[in-house]
Amino acid sequence: MSGTSAYEPAGTGHVRRARSAFTIRLWAVRHARFLEFIYDAFASVLLTLHPLWKAIGYHRVEKPVVVIESMVKSFLFDCRMCGQCALGDSGMSCPMNCPKGIRNGPCGGVRADGNCEVEADMPCVWVEAWSGSQQMKKKDNILNLQTAIDHSLRGSSSWLRATADKARAQEDSS
Ligand code: SF4
Repeated sequence: MSGTSAYEPAGTGHVRRARSAFTIRLWAVRHARFLEFIYDAFASVLLTLHPLWKAIGYHRVEKPVVVIESMVKSFLFDCRMCGQCALGDSGMSCPMNCPKGIRNGPCGGVRADGNCEVEADMPCVWVEAWSGSQQMKKKDNILNLQTAIDHSLRGSSSWLRATADKARAQEDSS
């Protein structure tokens, strides 16, 4: 049976998640500056290899890169592979873990202890985002307005998209 039930057992919510996912996710936020450094270095390597990706074809490398990206980011950030990564703007706290899917948060329902109003055990991803962003070199990125999510990009590689976008911007400016 689907729909709203008149009875909801104590401790349940709309979304059930393993608490271990919070642990690693919160570690990532606490080490946002370090992860920003690692990602920036990694992104430079990907950009340097742009001619190679172009020669092979971005569409051909997409599949293996998606497998690796999904494994790494699912482990570290509880990533949902939205395809439009905002981690660099959200203090390494993935906004897709917000039960309301808010990309420009937080909502007005954050609990007094900083937890989510929908999932009372989960720290609000946007409270965490602010905390993580303040450690980062690009701390003002959290003020960037995130555009509405394009669901057609779900499951695609943000790493490759960011690389292709940067390469195009470089080509356009030269
Ligand atoms: S913003 Fe999207 S791509 Fe980035 S970690 Fe979250 S779900 Fe994954």
